[in-house]
Amino acid sequence: MIPDNNGVMFRSLTSRGVAAYGLAAALTLLYVVIYFGDRIAGGAVQLWMQANVYGHLESLSQTLRGRPADQWFFYGTLYTVAVLVFGARMLHRYRTVPYQIVRTLSVMLFQLGFAYLLPNLLVLFKQPEFYFSYFWPLKPEYLYPYTWTHYGGTGVYFLIVAAFLSFVATPVLTYYFGKRWYCSWVCGCGGLANTAGDSFRHLSNKSSAAWRLERMTIYPILGLIVIVTALLWINSLTSGSVFGRFSQSLAEWYGFYIGAIFSGVIGVGFYPLLGTRIWCRFGCPMAAILGMLQVKLSRFRITTNGGHCISCGNCSTYCEMGIDVRAYAQNREDIIRASCVGCGICSAVCPRGVLRLESGRLQIVESKHEIVTTRR
Ligand code: SF4
Ligand code: SF4
Repeated sequence: MIPDNNGVMFRSLTSRGVAAYGLAAALTLLYVVIYFGDRIAGGAVQLWMQANVYGHLESLSQTLRGRPADQWFFYGTLYTVAVLVFGARMLHRYRTVPYQIVRTLSVMLFQLGFAYLLPNLLVLFKQPEFYFSYFWPLKPEYLYPYTWTHYGGTGVYFLIVAAFLSFVATPVLTYYFGKRWYCSWVCGCGGLANTAGDSFRHLSNKSSAAWRLERMTIYPILGLIVIVTALLWINSLTSGSVFGRFSQSLAEWYGFYIGAIFSGVIGVGFYPLLGTRIWCRFGCPMAAILGMLQVKLSRFRITTNGGHCISCGNCSTYCEMGIDVRAYAQNREDIIRASCVGCGICSAVCPRGVLRLESGRLQIVESKHEIVTTRR
């Protein structure tokens, strides 16, 4: 049974109507208040939120991490509740699609366990607040030099784990499973997009101009964070004699404009207007690395049995990354695209069973279906 998307193109909330603009404004305002409340009106906004909103989580915060509730605890709690509540909706909505059930349970588990409970419990036990589900370069500070000295003791152990996850686990898992092991099974950004944002996935821009823009932004941002990290290390190893304050200022600039404004305020605030993967598609440096590995090294691809395609266009419509899946199906071409996050929704909404997500050895499937394989 194909998941029901009836009315999605007509409802105000899901078709860029008044309700969508209202929700986008509310989400953006929420992000601005959480991220920058201490800078607005001399900190009055932050004080008001602390007294009237964050404070309601005081007992939970004290129980979980032994500290007063603040905006970051509020944000983490809200984020986790959103993934769990809308994840339950996803489980019901895609209850006939085993891949969607497993994938959704996975993002719910990683968000609740590794991005919420565990980091807070580490704080409770006086350990560094470490998020095992986020790696460099998505969480760049994990491999910044001052983090090593700042954490000290157990922190060094966590940072070795961080380096292992970034440089060993990431390429190995991407080889076997493609980008989806992270973007659609583990990452909190993808988790929120694929649960709370599921109703907005059809709003992604499908134009080739958007595809060109994607490549013009995501790789420079990856290059920027590689440079920032390298400069910080050079500066640290030379005791600040080479770059002085410059490398630190660049890291702060990146954290503010890319880490906070782009990934948070725009990335989530604009769900109802631009679709759910704006950050993943145009900005995330982790997605850029995974995408390159997916195209050059991975076994993962979506195979197409184009003879059965009826050109309904469901697959292209509901691809959150703006990929023209139908064109691949009609050309009987495997889909091996850097931006594909392997969410599998194109396959779930196809009424003819044309699309299959595969990770087996490449040559076996190619010879069986005589499929043309191009990588881009
Ligand atoms: S091509 Fe399919 S699996 Fe890949 S991102 Fe688009 S909808 Fe998801
Ligand atoms: S591949 Fe499936 S969903 Fe896509 S156009 Fe063909 S029949 Fe429709």
